[in-house]
Amino acid sequence: MTAIEPVMTFDPAHGVVHASTRRPSHASFSALDGWLTCPGRWVANRLLPKPIEWGSPLVLGGIAHAALELACRTPENQSPDWGALTLAGIRLERDRVAARGWGDEPVPAGVPMPDGREAGDADWARAAADRLSGFALSDALGRPLEPVAMEQELHADVAGIPLTGSVDCRDAAGIVVDWKTGRVPARADGRRRHADQLRVYRMLLETAGVCEVRGARDVYVEHRAWADADISDAACTDTLSRLHPAWDGMLRATGDDGTGMFPLRPSGLCSWCPVARACPLARLIPAGARAAASSVGPDDPRVAVMGTHTAGVESFESRVSNGKEPALDLLAMIGGAPDAAAPGTDAGAAAAAPSKRWSPAAAAPVRRGPDPWVTPEGRATAAKWLGADAVGTDGSATEPEPKPATPADDDPWAKPVAPAPDDPWNPTKTESKPAEPEPEPAAPEAKPAKASDPFAGLMPGTAAPEPKPAAPEPKAPEPAPVKPTAGGPLRAVEGKPFEPSLTGTTLNVAGYGFGQLLMTHAHAAVLADGHDDWVAPIGMELLKVQWAAGRKAFGARVPDIPGLEKGAPDRAALLAWLDSTPSRDTERAVRALLDADPMLKAGESDTLDSRLDRIRAAGRGTYTALAAAITLIEA
Ligand code: SF4
Repeated sequence: MTAIEPVMTFDPAHGVVHASTRRPSHASFSALDGWLTCPGRWVANRLLPKPIEWGSPLVLGGIAHAALELACRTPENQSPDWGALTLAGIRLERDRVAARGWGDEPVPAGVPMPDGREAGDADWARAAADRLSGFALSDALGRPLEPVAMEQELHADVAGIPLTGSVDCRDAAGIVVDWKTGRVPARADGRRRHADQLRVYRMLLETAGVCEVRGARDVYVEHRAWADADISDAACTDTLSRLHPAWDGMLRATGDDGTGMFPLRPSGLCSWCPVARACPLARLIPAGARAAASSVGPDDPRVAVMGTHTAGVESFESRVSNGKEPALDLLAMIGGAPDAAAPGTDAGAAAAAPSKRWSPAAAAPVRRGPDPWVTPEGRATAAKWLGADAVGTDGSATEPEPKPATPADDDPWAKPVAPAPDDPWNPTKTESKPAEPEPEPAAPEAKPAKASDPFAGLMPGTAAPEPKPAAPEPKAPEPAPVKPTAGGPLRAVEGKPFEPSLTGTTLNVAGYGFGQLLMTHAHAAVLADGHDDWVAPIGMELLKVQWAAGRKAFGARVPDIPGLEKGAPDRAALLAWLDSTPSRDTERAVRALLDADPMLKAGESDTLDSRLDRIRAAGRGTYTALAAAITLIEA
C-alpha cells in the first residue's frame, strides 16, 4: 500500500506551513481577504477544503444571490415569491455550471440534514428563502431599485493586481449594491473588509471603463440593514495598500518557483479553518467547537507537523517575547516588508541565524514575485488612485507630506477649556453658587421635557413613566460650590486618589475623577470601534448622560457643570463631579447597560448618530435603574 504524502506540513517553530499549490493567475477580493486572514488557511481551503454541511452559508448565499438576481429582473414586484425564486435560482446556477463546464454545483450532493435525510433542492431553496423572507428590493436603496446589471463579471488589472469580481447589482444611478446574507459585522475590521470589497468593485468598474461609480452599499437582506462604503480615491488607496501585500505574498509562496511557505496567523477564526484541529498554532474557541469538529485532525495523513518530538508547541508570539529564538519576520513573508533585512538588525540576525529545525528551503533566499508597482499597468493605475505626484519615477508610492503639529497636538495641557458663555443649564455661571434645586421629574405621559430637565436636548422625547423619583430635596445637602475655571495651562502632579483631581491649575493625575475621565474615553474608544474621529463625540455623550442620569436620580447633590450641554464643560466642575461616588456608580450603570446592548442591531446603520442614540438610551435606562433603587431605599 502506498503511503499518503502529506500535502501540508506545519512548522510551528517558525509559524508557517509548507505546501505546494498552483500560482493563481488572478485574484478575487475574497481570495486576497482570505490570505490576509491567514495564508495557512488560504492554502488549506485550496488543498483540503472542508466538507459542506447542511446550512452552509456558502451554499445558502449562492442560492440567495441567484434568487436576488432573478428578482432584479422584475424590480417593480415589491413582494417577490422567494420560495419560487430560490428554486429557480438553483436551476439558473446549475445551467451556468453546465454551460461553463466547470464550477461547483449550487446544491452539493450527499449532505445530510439533522433528520438524516439528504438535503435536496427544495430543502436548500427553502432555507435560502427563509433568509430573504419579507425583503423587498426597494429596501436596498430606500427607493425603487433600477438595476442595469446583475452579477456582472469583471476582470481588470488594478494597481498591478489582476483582479476579478462579480458585482451583485448596479443601479442606474451608478450605485453598486452588494447583497449580504449574513449579519452586519459587529467588529470594525469586519465592516472595513466589507467596505474594502465595495471599493474593489468601484476600482474594477472604473478601470474596466464600465461606468463611474457614485456610491456603494452592502445590503444585509436577512437583517434589513445596510452600510454605505466610503469609495473615495483615498479610501481606495487605503484598500489597495492592504491588498497589495496579499497579492505579493501569494506570488512569493506559490508556483513551482515559490517558497511554498505560508505564514500562520492564529485568530478567533481558527475554529472555522479546514485544518483547525491539525494546526499546532490554532486558537480554538468554545463558540467554534462544532465547526472545528469537522476540520482535518492531527492524525490525518494529509497533514504533518515538524518537530513534534520537541518540547511542546509555543505560539509565535511567546517565542518572540521570550527571546529564546530569533523571530522570523512574518511580515516579510507575506509581503510589504523590505526585501532583505539589513545586516546587524534583528531581522537580519534572524535571517542569518542557522535554524535547528528548519528545512533547506527556509534558508534559501526568498524569491519575490514581480512587483506590480513597477509594471507600466501598475504605475498607470497607481497614478490614477494615488495621484500622479504620489508615484515616484521608479513606480514606488511616495510618502505623504508630514503635517506640522499644532500647539494643541504638541501639548494636550496647553489647550484652554473655556466655560460656555451662556450656559442655560447654569445661569449663575460666574458665581460660586449652590446648584439649583433638582428639576421636576417628567410627567408620566409623553410630553416634551422641561427646559430645566437635564435630559432636555440631550435625550429628546424623554418622557418615560418614572418609578417614584427621588423626593424633592429642600434639605438636600448642597454640593460644594464649584467655581468655573478660566482654563489655561495645568500643572500635573501625582497626589492621592481621594484628593480632588483639580485644585486651581494643579491636576492630580491620581485623582479618581481624572481616572474616570480617562476610562470614560477608553470606553468611548471601544464604542467607536475603530472610528478614531468618533472617540471624542462619544466620550462627550457618555459624560453628558452620566451627569444627566445622576442629576435626575440624585438631585442637587450632583453639581451643575457649566458648558457640558454644549460640549465644552467647565473642567473644575466636571472633575468635581467625576471625583464623586455617585458619578462612579452612574458611570458603572451606563457601562453595564451599554455592554448588554449589541453594537449594531438589525436595521441599524453603522453611524455615529446610531452610537449616540444607544448611549442616550443607556442614559435613560440608567436613570430608571437608579431611581428604582433610590425608591426602594426611601420607601
Ligand atoms: S488554524 Fe488558524 S493559524 Fe492554523 S492555518 Fe487555520 S487559520 Fe491559520
